[in-house]
Amino acid sequence: MTTLPEFIPPSTEVPENCPTVAVEDDRTGLSVETLRRAWADHLFYLQGKWPEIATQNDLYMALAYVVRDRMLQRWLNTSRLYRHPQARIVCYLSAEFLLGPHLGNNLISLGIEDEVREAVKQSGLDFDALMAQEEEPGLGNGGLGRLAACYMDSLASLEIPAIGYGIRYEFGIFDQQIQDGWQVEVTDKWLQFGYPWEMARPEYSVEVCFGGRTESYTDTEGRYRVRWVPHQVVQGIPYDTPIMGYEVNTVNTLRLWKAEAVESFNFQSFNVGDYYGAVGEKVMSENLTKVLYPNDEPIQGKQLRLEQQYFFVSCALQDMIRLHLLSGRTLETFHERFTAQLNDTHPAVSVAELMRLLVDVHNLDWEVAWEVTRRTFAYTNHTLLPEALEKWPLDLFGQSLPRHLQIIFEINHRFMDQVRIQYMGNEEKMARLSLIDEGGERYIRMANLACVGSHAINGVAALHTKLLKQTVLKDFYELYPEKFSNKTNGVTPRRWIVLSNPRLTKLLKDTIGSDWIKHLDKLKQLEGHVQNPSFCQHWRDIKRAIKVDLTNYIYSTQGIQVDPDSLFDIQVKRIHEYKRQHLNVLHIITLYDRIRHDPNLDIVPRTFIFGGKAAPGYFVAKRIIKLITSVAAVVNNDPAVRDRIKVVFMPDYNVTNSQRIYPAADLSEQISTAGKEASGTGNMKFSLNGALTIGTLDGANVEIRDAVGPENFFLFGLTAPEVEETKAQGYNPWDYYSQNPELKEVIDLINAGVFSQGDRELFKPLVDSLVYHDPYLLLADYQSYVDCQARVSETYRDRDVWTRMSITNTARMGYFSSDRAIQEYCDEIWNVQPVAVEMKPYVQANAMLSV
Ligand SMILES: *Cc1c(COP(=O)(O)O)cnc(C)c1O
Repeated sequence: MTTLPEFIPPSTEVPENCPTVAVEDDRTGLSVETLRRAWADHLFYLQGKWPEIATQNDLYMALAYVVRDRMLQRWLNTSRLYRHPQARIVCYLSAEFLLGPHLGNNLISLGIEDEVREAVKQSGLDFDALMAQEEEPGLGNGGLGRLAACYMDSLASLEIPAIGYGIRYEFGIFDQQIQDGWQVEVTDKWLQFGYPWEMARPEYSVEVCFGGRTESYTDTEGRYRVRWVPHQVVQGIPYDTPIMGYEVNTVNTLRLWKAEAVESFNFQSFNVGDYYGAVGEKVMSENLTKVLYPNDEPIQGKQLRLEQQYFFVSCALQDMIRLHLLSGRTLETFHERFTAQLNDTHPAVSVAELMRLLVDVHNLDWEVAWEVTRRTFAYTNHTLLPEALEKWPLDLFGQSLPRHLQIIFEINHRFMDQVRIQYMGNEEKMARLSLIDEGGERYIRMANLACVGSHAINGVAALHTKLLKQTVLKDFYELYPEKFSNKTNGVTPRRWIVLSNPRLTKLLKDTIGSDWIKHLDKLKQLEGHVQNPSFCQHWRDIKRAIKVDLTNYIYSTQGIQVDPDSLFDIQVKRIHEYKRQHLNVLHIITLYDRIRHDPNLDIVPRTFIFGGKAAPGYFVAKRIIKLITSVAAVVNNDPAVRDRIKVVFMPDYNVTNSQRIYPAADLSEQISTAGKEASGTGNMKFSLNGALTIGTLDGANVEIRDAVGPENFFLFGLTAPEVEETKAQGYNPWDYYSQNPELKEVIDLINAGVFSQGDRELFKPLVDSLVYHDPYLLLADYQSYVDCQARVSETYRDRDVWTRMSITNTARMGYFSSDRAIQEYCDEIWNVQPVAVEMKPYVQANAMLSV
């Protein structure tokens, strides 16, 4: 831990008679009385309401401001570090941050949950109802965005100075409704009733250019230079959200950028008479950050998407350069103060943008700028699917970013010169490494740009990194083996235990203290209690109570009565063929079929719970949702089943909903085709909350199984090499279908229209795809899966054994904390140290720095 010397920037000299503000006042005090007074004050002065006319939302907003006030002192003290010449700062560049609601999390970080609860209670109001008012900002699709959120939490908790840079989408991921069993998308209006956790900072706006052409010229020193003459200029306005560390003074900043029109530009450069057209241009500018692309996979060929990526990256880099120059240092040392992590290739155009800013705008020599750039960036890869690697058609790219196209050509030219020497003109090798894909229509390969422009490249689970080196990034691994490392993902125990599972938190605190919240390895101490019958009983009681909560929630929202004593078998995640929700469905139909044959079959009662959104244009995924809801409708209402199996599709899977689902699981479904899931983080959240996993050897499942012990993990299915082998040998799913009578019967039931009121067409596309193509090998893994599920049921019959396995899972999950992951990034990629943020008892009113 370092403490940097006091740094007073030149602009903040305080006049002698400057007023000072005492810290211990209504805006910072923590007593219940003060909190109540502050709440009433905010309700009146910020919401403009008396208590008797206040809506629930007014009350929530006022309460949120009470909490935000108590973070500001720490926030501004942390922000001061960003200008400190000796501070080294992590910039996490991500097109998505899936934060979830803030109020509860901030109360936990501040350690004032009890006081605030009491204040609300004394006012005669329902704290949980107020918490439920918060609309989560759904600024991400799934795992990738949620990872960024967990990492922001860990960076702050580890006292690492950091800034998250991203996009403030006006509409985040759509809200999902289920109508007639189908997904219906509804726009997400998270800003509708006001959002108390952000502060606009228009004084730090930047301009971002698009389109037009470039011109070369010779500068006054006789150097060849290029200037970009853009067609359009857009303003980027930063909106800051405080990200508070757990029980520390560090409050980092998440700085999201909104696009707005630049007032003066349009009216000067367009026909003066064309007022209407000029206003139209303004609307175009604001469209840039209107909506998140609701697709889990990269979106090919959408100009607006490229422009979104460039927009936020340019804003971020301009902001970093401003901060650097403010600290009084020159840009040759930019990489000493900033390290920037590229969360997938979405921000990879950063490499070209930083070069442009350094060379064209700030006059650095190319070689110096390249060294700075390379040493600034590090790249995290998130996918193994070759078709999912981002690439942009050259002409599309050049239309929006003509100067960047030139810069990429120049980077590539120099890179190819180097590769030519190293591989003695091996043309095939050069073609594969090139930043430009020249086979047919020409494309820019963003992963190649990220690899060349970064000093470090990492995958997100051990298996994923290993496969990266063998497949999609093989050539780069051979060229730069020293750049590669693995950083297995992690999740924050603050949100995923303390906030979402208060019952478990209390039991853990009562049993092993509280150290595990910051040092998750300490969960190991639970192993000393696995043989203690009263502890086991307690563990079981807690799980049951959480399942009762979810049971009530399901009943009140959907009218479906489930049995809290049944095995809660849960699969929640984006709907995708490779994640194989439909394999889960085949198992459900198998059980249903067995009951039909033998009505008195003795089976372990199960509640199958699904949740997840499908990309709106992903036809097959949407049909998988319809299949799940259709099977549910039949199974749940067939008297022959006698409630032994129930199927529930919970609509609108998001962070808020996930927080009530993970803790209630007995069984976690992690059943992707081996070699397809990069890491997964849902698998970690389940296991941390005492669910056992049924899973393939894919992503982080491999490491979870190693950690919890193979005897505490239900493994099935082909391994990644076996998947490749099976395909290479000419996999024919029809053989599995025709030779496995039970599988055949299951598929025939779907085909016969049993789940579609006799309609044989509805699921034909799904079934045909399985029987004739089956690219994700469901049929090859079917029997292994069904057998494994039988072992799950047998194990569940012995509640003592199950409970011990459950406790052991939680106890051995310490490694999967995002604190551990961030510590590895700090030590092995970023080379950053924690910095203690001091709390000063007084702050000078006009010296309140912000950045
Ligand atoms: C954790 C999480 C995910 C990622 O789940 P996987 O099972 O790893 O795909 C997606 N969405 C939300 C809301 C999450 O909390």
